[in-house]
Amino acid sequence: MKKFKNSWLIQLKVWLRALVRDPKQFVRNRDICECSSCGYRGFFATARKGHVHAAFRCPNCESRPRDRNIALFFQKNALSFDGKSILHIAPEWPLFRQLKAEPGYVGGDIQKRRNANSIVDITSINFDSNHFDFLICNHVMEHVQDDKKAMEECYRVLKNGGVAIFSVPLSGKPETWEPPAGMSVPEIEAIVGWDHKRYYGYDFADKLEKFGFKVEIFKINEAEAKLHGIASGDFNDEIFIARK
Ligand SMILES: [Zn+2]
Repeated sequence: MKKFKNSWLIQLKVWLRALVRDPKQFVRNRDICECSSCGYRGFFATARKGHVHAAFRCPNCESRPRDRNIALFFQKNALSFDGKSILHIAPEWPLFRQLKAEPGYVGGDIQKRRNANSIVDITSINFDSNHFDFLICNHVMEHVQDDKKAMEECYRVLKNGGVAIFSVPLSGKPETWEPPAGMSVPEIEAIVGWDHKRYYGYDFADKLEKFGFKVEIFKINEAEAKLHGIASGDFNDEIFIARK
């Protein structure tokens, strides 16, 4: 996997964007963070003014909290993408850029995009069963009408012993909110956000387990969260580790 050296071009882009969005962050955020994705140490950029993440974007590799969370999970479990087959659904740019040259990497999206190298429909994945060592699916399921079919398909294409990593916007409640029958799309979106079909609770893990996954939430302590700019306060961006 390609590791990032200091890139002045990316840094310039991130800091310029940060300057436009929230100039006061340059005097406010003085925490030194460490990027678990690229190894950069220094200041991170804020997402936007008032955002729950003070340290949001790594200026060196553009990683966001969820990218660094996955990288930290790999580090702590001594896992590596090297030589593995990987299905990355609706790829995030920082990880796509790192992995796209790997022969076993499939960055799949439902439509052609700059940061995807394949067309993949998560409810009908065009690969054989037991094909992938890793599957990464961040903030996708909330957009999928038939999320059960999608979970079943993710389980099918993962190898025995493989690891799938999911994250979704979480309400923080135990149970998922599903819109009642007959509710209009604008009414639903007013509650759950644009194009979202539901608001998941922590029973997201149970939903995955129904299809055979063994699921745990990757837990990190406060010091790790602060150091890597991963979580703060009551904002939940946990990753669900689903093993087959
Ligand atoms: Zn980084």
